[in-house]
Amino acid sequence: MVKIDPWKNALKQLDDAAKILKIDPGVHDMLGTPKKILIVALPVKMDNGKIKVFTGYRSQHNDFRGPHKGGIRYHPDVTIEEVKALSMWMTWKCAIVDVPFGGGKGGIICDPKKLSAGEKERLTRRYAYAISEIIGPGKDIPAPDVYTTGTEMAQIMDVYSVMHGQGEPAVITGKPLSIGGSQARNVATGLGVAYCVREAARKIGMKHYENIVIQGFGNAGTFAAEYLEKMGGRIIAVSDSKGSIINPKGLDTKKVIEYKKKKGTVVGYPGSKKITTEQLLTTPCDVLIPAALENQITPEIAKKIKCKIIAEAANGPTTPEADDILFKRGIMVIPDILANSGGVCISYLEWVQNLQRYYWTFDEVAKKMEEHIVRGFNDTYNLAKKHKVDLRKGSMVLAVGRVLDSFNARGLWP
Ligand code: GLU
Repeated sequence: MVKIDPWKNALKQLDDAAKILKIDPGVHDMLGTPKKILIVALPVKMDNGKIKVFTGYRSQHNDFRGPHKGGIRYHPDVTIEEVKALSMWMTWKCAIVDVPFGGGKGGIICDPKKLSAGEKERLTRRYAYAISEIIGPGKDIPAPDVYTTGTEMAQIMDVYSVMHGQGEPAVITGKPLSIGGSQARNVATGLGVAYCVREAARKIGMKHYENIVIQGFGNAGTFAAEYLEKMGGRIIAVSDSKGSIINPKGLDTKKVIEYKKKKGTVVGYPGSKKITTEQLLTTPCDVLIPAALENQITPEIAKKIKCKIIAEAANGPTTPEADDILFKRGIMVIPDILANSGGVCISYLEWVQNLQRYYWTFDEVAKKMEEHIVRGFNDTYNLAKKHKVDLRKGSMVLAVGRVLDSFNARGLWP
């Protein structure tokens, strides 16, 4: 895999937008500096009775538009640079879909697959305690991210509530329904990807998006597949960490999910042929959805890609050089901060429901989320056209412009 420093990449994207918007250097500096980063030591009693100290982070990038918002990831490769970059991307993501939040992100360096349920819970609760001073419904609202789920969100909500002497569901989103989670939160990212693909297809006058390729068949990939199928799409190739498969006549998403549940992989699904990752990414198709890892679409792959639309369900699947190649080749890339914003859109709606103690149905939530995403897509598209840039730069110009508007209204104190 290509190694790219995510923080440098994030700063470069900000620089590009700053040039177009002609931002004052001091303000540019403010936007390029996280407001606060907390580094915490997390001692945990392991099942063998020994103490192990883990490191956790919470980066709060910017809160001009509202409280910080963003997930918490558990991964052995978590670094402070990565958490900083992800917190900056959250600032832009929230601004694009116009939800009143700033950006934040957290992470713990750990291998969750090697922790027992008890160890993971003790680690989670210790982390919640350690960051409790900087989070809160009006300060910073975490959410799930890589290898964290509703289980961890419930534990964090519990610690915070116990510490504050009252149940406080609005401190975190992505919770189970029984403690104030929202309908549609589990399908949110995939559903948002599907809405973006539909809008992109409309823009380029593509009537049918019949042939869809999905790299990664986790939460985002499977729900994107299901909803696109419902919208008339046909999934022809998918992959997971064990390999890639293709059936040009179409794969039945529900059946592939069932097969993967039973066998632990999509590979071997009846009627499909096994192919390589490169073959998957370069399969002739209408829509390619990278929903797996970072840096998958390198310049070499970008030259060979044969699709009309790429929808980045994953964070950072396209390298910056590959972006330029795709733009020149006329391939529309729906950038991650727009394509996968469904998650944070529904997180916003979950937070609103928690604050008002009044809950909406699945359809109500999905409809409100659709409005945010469709508007975000159109605003991005129009700005990209105006400045003759790709959608990634267009989305950055939109996001940075919106954050600047808030800054200009609030001013600097003292
Ligand atoms: N972790 C998700 C993201 O990166 C969701 C964040 C949230 O809901 O706050 O967009």
